[in-house]
Amino acid sequence: MPLRFHNTLTQQTQVFEPLEGNLVRMYTCGPTVYDFAHIGNFRTFVFYDILRRWLRLSGYKLDHVMNITDVDDKIIRNATALGQSLGQYTDTYTKAFLDDCATLRLERPERLARATEHIPQMAAAIKKLEDTGYTYRSDGSIYFRIAKFPEYGKLSHNDFSGIVSGARVDVDEYEKNDARDFALWKAPKPGEFNWDTEVGTGRPGWHIECSVMAVQYLGATLDLHAGGVDLVFPHHENEIAQSEALTGKQFARYWMHSEFLLVDGQKMSKSLGNFYTLRDLFGKGFTPESVRYLLASVPYRKGLNFTFDGLTSSKTAIERLRNFKHRLDTAKLAPGLGEAIQSLAVASLKQFRDAMDDDLNTAEALGAVFEFLREANTALDAGTFLEDNRAAALELLNLFDAVFEILVPAEQAGAIPAEEVESLIAARTAAKKARDFAKSDAIRNELLEKGVILEDTKEGVRWKRK
Ligand code: AMP
Ligand code: ZN
Repeated sequence: MPLRFHNTLTQQTQVFEPLEGNLVRMYTCGPTVYDFAHIGNFRTFVFYDILRRWLRLSGYKLDHVMNITDVDDKIIRNATALGQSLGQYTDTYTKAFLDDCATLRLERPERLARATEHIPQMAAAIKKLEDTGYTYRSDGSIYFRIAKFPEYGKLSHNDFSGIVSGARVDVDEYEKNDARDFALWKAPKPGEFNWDTEVGTGRPGWHIECSVMAVQYLGATLDLHAGGVDLVFPHHENEIAQSEALTGKQFARYWMHSEFLLVDGQKMSKSLGNFYTLRDLFGKGFTPESVRYLLASVPYRKGLNFTFDGLTSSKTAIERLRNFKHRLDTAKLAPGLGEAIQSLAVASLKQFRDAMDDDLNTAEALGAVFEFLREANTALDAGTFLEDNRAAALELLNLFDAVFEILVPAEQAGAIPAEEVESLIAARTAAKKARDFAKSDAIRNELLEKGVILEDTKEGVRWKRK
């Protein structure tokens, strides 16, 4: 089955094909760096990561841009209260965000774009919108006149045709029933941070940054645009209006939105105070891999209720997978190919791929892996899992880990791979046979230094990591 994504724009699950060859031009809305991100935010960033990985594993090249919102109402309020410059304030949280992403093993987009580094380009875009009649000024601010863009509402599937033209909204976030002309440029306020630009002094509204940076780096039409479901309205609706008014072309062909991380049925959010940061969870002894696994294990379009039991189950699931991998790496197997387990390995690999191709159904993909794990463990116990079954089983686990990436514990990341351990053990066995004990001891010590402990048993050499 070809790769399919649910497109918010068409409200359908569609075969995904980029506009040009195998290059995917994608844009995802990044963090507002006004505080530490919480794991609700990270559900969305883990979704971007899984999306990236599956596109790559499907043979696509990526050109992915993500913005860092480093100027908005909340940032200005907090930086001002602390008497810090915007840069001072946002650098702290930008760095914390990028550190957290690395800890969660999130792939970096090809480009991170900071809003404050694109102010002249935003001003130029606003000027162009003014010149083409999409805007009006009021009290030093510039507003987008949504009545000039009849398709307004096409992403959120709302009919906004009846709204009062000229009614304005100055805040960055608002509800659907409050749809009004939104600020592209905000008038300077005493004591606030301002920029002098060709459209005047002031600062940009939140929405314009994404339109401008997306089009600047990726061209008028993106293959894919993603974000959390809370961004559909007004943010993405406004991005479409601005971009399409600017270029006259379709802005993004596929729109993907991830559902919320919930706590007791409510969105995890700063404002409700029901949130955890990664630091909170590490403080309680949970690992980054458990958080990553939990956030990745539920398909992105399903709400995910956060519980500590869920995190603990993730930990158990990871242990089972790691034990199985270790068993596959180290088991001494009889020669030959067990037919039944081989067909299951092939079927599970296909089921994994089909599930991911089906709008990134990670739960079903995991189901395929665990079913195989169960059967393979039984076959290993029974001696019906044979040497030539190892490759297909490892292929499944490797594909799983290319997406989920939890098999190697953080403290062992960069550790010596199992294949290398095996070949050093073989060299040591050969040295012993040749009675070159100096060499066999040297190899044992080399492995020990690399964190691998050997144990000589009647059945041969067993090994484990420290
Ligand atoms: P912000 O830093 O507030 O701009 O949010 C960054 C991203 O996190 C946005 O794409 C939001 O949609 C997303 N987000 C915020 N809260 C949650 C949540 N509870 N679950 C999933 N995604 C969220
Ligand atoms: Zn955006």
